[in-house]
Amino acid sequence: MSDQATGHRPVNGQSGAPVHRVVIIGGGITGLAAAHALITHPRARQARIECALVERESHLGGKLQTERVNGCLVETGPDSFLAAKPWASELCRTLGLGDRLIGTLPGRAVHVAFRDRLHPLPPGLALGIPSRLLPMVRTGLLSPAEKLRLAWDLVLPRDRADGDRTVGGFLGRRLGRAAVDRLAGPLLAGIYAGDADALSLRATFPQLLEWEASSRSLILAALAARRRAGASRDGAAPLFLSLIGGLGELVDALRAALVGVRTIIGQSVMRLGRSSGSGTAPYSVHLADGRALEADALLVATPAFVTADLLAPLAPDAADALRATPYASTAAVTLGYRRGDVSHPLEGHGFVVARGEPLQISACTWVSSKWPHRAPPEVALLRCYLGSAGRDAIVGEDDDTLVRVACQDLARTMGIDAIPIFTHVARWPRAMPQYLPGHLERLAAIEAALRHLPGVAVAGAGYRGIGIPDCIRQGQGAAGRLADWLGAGEASRAAS
Ligand SMILES: Cc1cc2nc3c(=O)[nH]c(=O)nc-3n(C[C@H](O)[C@H](O)[C@H](O)COP(=O)(O)OP(=O)(O)OC[C@H]3O[C@@H](n4cnc5c(N)ncnc54)[C@H](O)[C@@H]3O)c2cc1C
Repeated sequence: MSDQATGHRPVNGQSGAPVHRVVIIGGGITGLAAAHALITHPRARQARIECALVERESHLGGKLQTERVNGCLVETGPDSFLAAKPWASELCRTLGLGDRLIGTLPGRAVHVAFRDRLHPLPPGLALGIPSRLLPMVRTGLLSPAEKLRLAWDLVLPRDRADGDRTVGGFLGRRLGRAAVDRLAGPLLAGIYAGDADALSLRATFPQLLEWEASSRSLILAALAARRRAGASRDGAAPLFLSLIGGLGELVDALRAALVGVRTIIGQSVMRLGRSSGSGTAPYSVHLADGRALEADALLVATPAFVTADLLAPLAPDAADALRATPYASTAAVTLGYRRGDVSHPLEGHGFVVARGEPLQISACTWVSSKWPHRAPPEVALLRCYLGSAGRDAIVGEDDDTLVRVACQDLARTMGIDAIPIFTHVARWPRAMPQYLPGHLERLAAIEAALRHLPGVAVAGAGYRGIGIPDCIRQGQGAAGRLADWLGAGEASRAAS
């Protein structure tokens, strides 16, 4: 346990004004981005804000963990973020990491494992929807009849159904079952380690609904979106970004930027309560070692099921809604091979797996092709994902079993029968929130319940986006609202 309290002082504001204590719980990317946004928020200048961040593990970053293994850079959690969502790259630039940003090489194919072969995903898919017709005509992923069924989208009327439904159900009606199972489903579900037939359309891919509303046909909408973006630029810009030294660089830069923030690591928050001390702060944060922190405001950036337990004494209604989001477990198995032992050309970024295939891995990244500097030239570095919603019991198996299963699946799909020269297994139990139909209504219920708890906010992957950019956006947004609230209180006190 460590309590880096040396820089602990109000981070802003004039001396003499009352101090506002904010406690952020959870030092993943959401909590870190929130702490940074809080201490740099313009409103924070009016309020003297004293910020503490409490993290259960002995390191910061949550799921962002970069390791060095046998001369290779291994991301044990996420390895990149979507370039189209600006919040992560903007934060990197703010932190002075602009020249460390790297993009995936454009034009490299992702493949789909289907019937013991790897098929390149047809180029031009937007949110899994074809925006170029010729590659769809040529793909071996669909039979002629299945291609005709896909084209039925061009004439199918809008769905008149109200309310939320699953991504798989919606896409299946428009494009046919085969397209869901082999094109859109594996890609979209891969993001959530989820099942397209279980995930909420409105909470995960609302743009598909907007496309249907505006253009009726998803294919026509995707073609129009491609035209607007400029077809000549097609494939020119990287889809995903990362940092040269891995995403751990972002965590390190955030930690260094949190000047004046009291960072308590290796310490769980066990309970939140109403403050009973003589101070004016309304909340108390009880740590595993028996200490309690007083807080005027709380930002809870832990997984939703932890947040539910913490908030239960203060907001039981919010806790019930928070518990309704299930989490899937997943494991990342990294395998290093001698390059000469792998006859596969490894041209592309890797593959996802079509639904119904007899494989236990759900995807494989060809790390040494996707990010060539992350492994020496003589090493082929591959990373397999195991475990997804409804299929995550395997994550509980021991390391040897996970490595054996991954190797078997690579033998079947890529013909690799060599023994890896090193392996690395990272387990992520209950890591991937599943936004089921009704997710947005549950979020509204949580927000309504929290309106009775002034100065309490929740943010993170369990709510409005699971990817790193969305987590940063949510952390920054929640911190901004708290800073406004504390600053506004200060301004009205000063005026009276
Ligand atoms: C294997 C894997 C691959 C992924 N790949 C990508 C990708 O390539 N791109 C992408 O954008 N996203 C990816 N994601 C998703 C993304 O990494 C996560 O959704 C995001 O990092 C979650 O951030 P967070 O801060 O909300 O939560 P977390 O990272 O879970 O942080 C929450 C923190 O709270 C702490 N905590 C929990 N309980 C307590 C307590 N009682 N007291 C104090 N602290 C507590 C935890 O230790 C943790 O550090 C991936 C996720 C996984 C698991």
